[in-house]
Order: sequence, then C-alpha cells, then structure tokens
Amino acid sequence: MTEKIKRGFINLKIWRSLKVRLFAIIFLMGLVPAMIIKEGILNNYEDRAVAVRQSDVQNQLKIIANHLITYNYLQDTSSEVINAELEQLSNLYNGRVLIINGNLRVVKDTYGISEGKIIISEEVIKCIKGTAMSNYDAKNGFIEITTPIVETVSAQMATENLPEGTELTRGIMLTSVSTDIIRNTMDILDRRAFIIMIIMIFCTLVIAMVLTRILIRPFDRISKAINEIKDDHIDEPISVPDYLETEHIVDAFNSLIKRMKIVDDSRQEFVANVSHELKTPITSMKVLADSLLDQPDVPAELYREFLVDITEEIEREDKIINDLLALVKMNKTAAKLNIGVVNINSLAEIILKRLRPIARKNDIELSLVSAREVTAEVDEVKMSLILTNLVENAVKYNKENGEVTVTVDADHQFFTVEVADTGIGIPEESLVKIYERFYRVDKSHSREIGGTGLGLAITRSAILLHRGSIRAESRLGEGTRFLVKMPLIHGSM
Ligand code: ADP
Repeated sequence: MTEKIKRGFINLKIWRSLKVRLFAIIFLMGLVPAMIIKEGILNNYEDRAVAVRQSDVQNQLKIIANHLITYNYLQDTSSEVINAELEQLSNLYNGRVLIINGNLRVVKDTYGISEGKIIISEEVIKCIKGTAMSNYDAKNGFIEITTPIVETVSAQMATENLPEGTELTRGIMLTSVSTDIIRNTMDILDRRAFIIMIIMIFCTLVIAMVLTRILIRPFDRISKAINEIKDDHIDEPISVPDYLETEHIVDAFNSLIKRMKIVDDSRQEFVANVSHELKTPITSMKVLADSLLDQPDVPAELYREFLVDITEEIEREDKIINDLLALVKMNKTAAKLNIGVVNINSLAEIILKRLRPIARKNDIELSLVSAREVTAEVDEVKMSLILTNLVENAVKYNKENGEVTVTVDADHQFFTVEVADTGIGIPEESLVKIYERFYRVDKSHSREIGGTGLGLAITRSAILLHRGSIRAESRLGEGTRFLVKMPLIHGSM
C-alpha cells in the first residue's frame, strides 16, 4: 500500500512540469547549503567551546596539583587554603573534584560523598601511571578530566635510585565539570539559526518562484504563439529566440508548418483541378443535350451524332475517374508492393505487342532493343503500368510514320528502360512539369487524343515506390526520350 502511494507520488503529473522541477532545484540549492552551514557552525562552536573549557580547567588543575604536593594534602586534608581553592574551582566550573591518593583511596570529594572509598577505574589506573586524560560526554553534558598529582624529586630527597628531578605520581585528581553553559549557548544559537533559516526559506521560496517564472516564460510564449496560429491560421513564422533550445523547437515547428502548408496548397489545387477536369465533360454533355432539347424537330441523324459525342464525353469522364482512382490507390498502397522476379525484356515485348495495333493505326513502328537480358525484383502490375503509359505517350505524341524504340539495359545494380520516340517533343520549360497531376503541354491537343494529364503522375509514383527515378530529354519537333532507372534488387537502395 505504502509502495503504491510512493509510486503514485513519483508518477504525479506535477513532477513532469519543467516549472516545478526548476522551482524545486532552485529552492533546494538555496536551502541545502544553508542547512549544512548552520549545522557546521553549531558543531564547530561546540568543539571549540569544549576545547577551551578543557584547557582552562586543566591549567587550573595543574596549579592546584602542585599546591597539593606543597601542602602535603594527600596525607593531611585539613589545609584551609587548598580546601578553599578546591571549593572555588568546583563552584566556578559547576563541577566536582575528587582527590585520590596513591592507594586509589579518595581523600577529598568536594561533594563530600565518596571520601574514604577506593576507586578503581580505567582512567584512574592510567592516570596513576602518568597519562592524563580528558573526556567529553556530550549526552550527559560534562567533561571528565584526570590529572596526575606529580612530585618532582628535590636535591634533599634525591637518593641513588631516585635522582633529582624524577617525577613521581603521588595521586590523581578526578574532576568533572559541567558543560551546561556551552549547551545553553548552543540552544540560543540554534534558536537564532532557526529564525534565520525560516527567513531564508521564505527568501529562497520567493527567489525560486520569480526565477522559475522568468526562466519558463519563453516556453509559455511558444505555446501562446502556436495557439494563435491554430486559431487564426497565421502564415508568418513564429519566433522565440530567448534560448537556443526554444529557437530549435520554433525552427522545427516553422518548418513543419511550411510543409503542412505546401501539402495543404497542393491538396487544394488537386481538388480544384479534379473538379474542373470532371466538370468539363459534364458541361459538354449538358450543352449537347440542351441543344437537342431546344430544337423542336431534330432529325434522327443529328440525335445519333450528338449521342455519339455524349458517349465520348462519358468515356472521357470514365477515363479520368479511373486514372484518379489509380493515382489515389498508388499513394495509398505505398507499402504494399507485390514484388516478384520479372523478366523485363519479356514484359516490354508483351506490352509492345499489345500496343502495336494502336500504333499501326498511326503508322508508327514499335521496336524493342534488348541490350542485355534483365530480370529484376519488381511489382509486375506496376511495372507494366509504367511501360504502358510511357509507350502510349510515345505513340500519342508521335508523328505519322514515326518510331518508338524501347531499350532495356542494366549494370550490376540498376536496370534501365529507355522509351524514345520521334514525336512532337516537349518544350524545355515543361520538362519538369509533365509529372504534375493534370499538367498537359497542349491541353486541347491532349484532350483530342484522350489524355487526362494523370498518366505521368501515376508512372512517376509507381517508379518512386520501387525507389527508382525517371527523367526526360526532348527536342521540339524531333522527339522525346524517357529514361527509367530502377534497382535490380528490391530494397537494396
Ligand atoms: P496525358 O494523359 O495528357 O498524356 P501524361 O501525364 O501522360 O498526360 O503526360 C503529360 C503531358 O506530357 C502530356 O499532356 C504531353 O503534353 C506531355 N508528354 C508526355 N509524353 C510525351 C511524349 N512522349 N512526347 C511529347 N509530349 C509528351
């Protein structure tokens, strides 16, 4: 359950907001160092204050230890002077002093509780052996100090075994002093630091809010600009150059809009062209029908003649619709190529054979030149559509007694099909436009010979599906040469 809540919290939508993340980062960057500094300063103060107190007390204890020897206090604790000194020390540092003689017996306790008792503890034993120690017990708030009471052998006392200057530990002083003052000061400092922290939290909160708002503003501007485009169809590109990142986003968006506009324009143009092309035969049919209806006694021959014309228009309409369907299908089934291994020479031969009767009507000679035997991975139906369209055009736009030559060739990667005619040719400026939908060099001539202006658009789409290319060279009045180049193996390009 808690795991679920945790995951839910992490997945909260709000964390995906750049604004929230920036805010959190700025806020934490202000707060965390402040907290570390606060803890550091307080701990440092504690260490320093304890060290100062330890050294103060130790100095005092050393002086008293000397006095203890001078007044022979370990044997006789009645010295007023020493008792006063010990009293003063314990009052001053709010502590307790135990004087322990060489037999580990307590000879003086400023609290008066432990006198006469024997004390055996690790610190005491160590101290007797000459090692002074000082421990800070932070939890209970006191410092414990052991000080050896050392007598230095004087000249009168010196013997052979005890040369002058030898230091003898006669007893020890076990002192504990309270560190309440340090604690109190720390509490005061802690309280002040807390107030400063609250002020800092408030300040970083405000700074984080303001900074986040400023930093995030360009992104808000982008969405505002995009929304305006959505509402009003603004053609002008948007610009938010504040950051390199926003510039990249905006550039990408502008080029997308540009592409969409091109697609939209071409779609609109296509729809306009389609409507126009479909309307033309209908208008002709209406004119023909109206003129028959307007005349009261129309002879039967005229009816027949006009009906033949109307049938032609219907056939034309049918052809346009079929071509349009072929084009749409080509674009829709882009991914659906029915690839197989096809002998291109045989395919070209079959197509030429099929078109020969039409060519013969215009006294046009169709011939095939197989520079090489070519088998390639292509969609056979689409490949025959390509060849049929090109050869049909070469026949349609030819002259009487003209020739059409189809040449099939290949290298190790590509095969080429060249369709050359001795026809009317295409003007230089039209060469790039002939693949556009409904483009015809000579509209009325094309119409006369039953062209829709869609043939080359379909051809080019089919070639592009095979990742091939098509180009045309032409001389007006002399003829045209279409060159199709396609990979031998599908998907190799
Ligand atoms: P259409 O149905 O009009 O033939 P296409 O798309 O096949 O349409 O061809 C577009 C235009 O290109 C034609 O109208 C014609 O003007 C020109 N064209 C195509 N092939 C040839 C060619 N072999 N010789 C001369 N003009 C051609």
